[in-house]
Amino acid sequence: MRSRHLFGRHTRADLPVAVAGEGPYLIDAEGRRYLDACGGAAVSCLGHGRNPVTEAAKDQLDRMAYAHTSFFTSEPAEELADRLIALAPQGIERVYFVSGGSEATEAAMKLARQYFLETSQPERRHIIARWQSYHGNTLGALSAGGNRWRRGQFEPLLSGAMHHIDACHYWRFAEEGEGPEEYGLRVANQLEDKILALGPETVAAFIAEPVVGATMGAVPAVPGYFQRIREICDRYGVLLILDEVMCGTGRTGTLFASEQEGIFPDMVCIAKGIGAGIQPLGAMLCSDRIFAAVEAGSGFFQHGHTYIGHPVATRAGLAVLDEFEKHDLLSNVREMGNRLMTALIGRFGNRSHVGDIRGRGLFLGLELVDNRMTKTPFDPSLNLHARIKKAAMAEGLMCYPMGGTVDGLRGDHILLAPPYTITEEHVGEIVDKLDRALDVAFEQVA
Ligand code: PLP
Repeated sequence: MRSRHLFGRHTRADLPVAVAGEGPYLIDAEGRRYLDACGGAAVSCLGHGRNPVTEAAKDQLDRMAYAHTSFFTSEPAEELADRLIALAPQGIERVYFVSGGSEATEAAMKLARQYFLETSQPERRHIIARWQSYHGNTLGALSAGGNRWRRGQFEPLLSGAMHHIDACHYWRFAEEGEGPEEYGLRVANQLEDKILALGPETVAAFIAEPVVGATMGAVPAVPGYFQRIREICDRYGVLLILDEVMCGTGRTGTLFASEQEGIFPDMVCIAKGIGAGIQPLGAMLCSDRIFAAVEAGSGFFQHGHTYIGHPVATRAGLAVLDEFEKHDLLSNVREMGNRLMTALIGRFGNRSHVGDIRGRGLFLGLELVDNRMTKTPFDPSLNLHARIKKAAMAEGLMCYPMGGTVDGLRGDHILLAPPYTITEEHVGEIVDKLDRALDVAFEQVA
């Protein structure tokens, strides 16, 4: 169907019309089934169709759909805040609910600024982020993001208070003979260099995704990288914001991705999985130190949106956590993640044009290269990632292909982020269908 509500290339393409869902499958108006191997954009962690989360949301709609937070709080919002705080990294004591990922990162960066105003450090205004990262598409989030293609035409509108250091992507960027730990320290130390160059007394925060999603395709940092980042932030009094919008809420096998880094952030942003695509929900979680400074100072966070703490969305979030616990889904993420990784390496590990296979839990990526030896990406004009997406859809498989920016060159990768409920059979189906889709796409660009 030609869409009149989607802008851009979607409006020129004939899109299937999704009408139903069943477990990890979406079904279109013609009855074709698509195995959702990417959760849309790492969103649908519980799959599709009717489930206890949809039932909980319906029940909340009937009880009380909306109460503005300047007049009321609500039971679901309070309960979900308590649950998240109990599960969150050490030191996290407050939650600010929003409707999505960009709102969560915007809230974190604004709160970082306000924290330093409340603590009489008004000169702290700079935020440092990383190239090849993504923090959302609103102007503040885009300013922090390090995807040059996404920033491109909006540069004149972006904030001059945002600065970037290199990504941590060992396979792509390490120098000849450089070990992972040596590389990790070298790129983490760029944060210190940047803080010193800007003036330590002027830097408010550093923001990073623990496992980089959309822009690089499920790239975790090397061991020790985030520990060094934490040390540097502490040395200069800079707040550490972790953007777990894509990699958090269980996607990598632990509720918070940062649990696997052995560090505690000052703020952490989540979205996507916590609403499971059933409700638009995100959250910015912060430490007691930050909250206490605001409470003791001006008394309130100078921010807000119409739908913060939405009762139906937060009720859905509670039901998502219930599902995780009831079915021990994070164990399944780890187990199926290992199986999927093993199957991908088995099938594609020696395949020409598959340069790297990486990720954690059910958050995996394949990087596609023209030349495996030199890691040279495909010519961007070939649009390989779009060809793979099309071929995969024809096979009845949803995967999330992207053309990222690698050293100014476009590189193609595929992100896999299936629902946490998948079984061994689904793992086999993903790999078989992807194999056929890659055959089709590679043949087109040969
Ligand atoms: N941060 C990260 C790491 C993301 O991957 C995304 C979306 O993909 C966002 C922020 C923005 O989230 P949203 O699209 O819900 O605004």
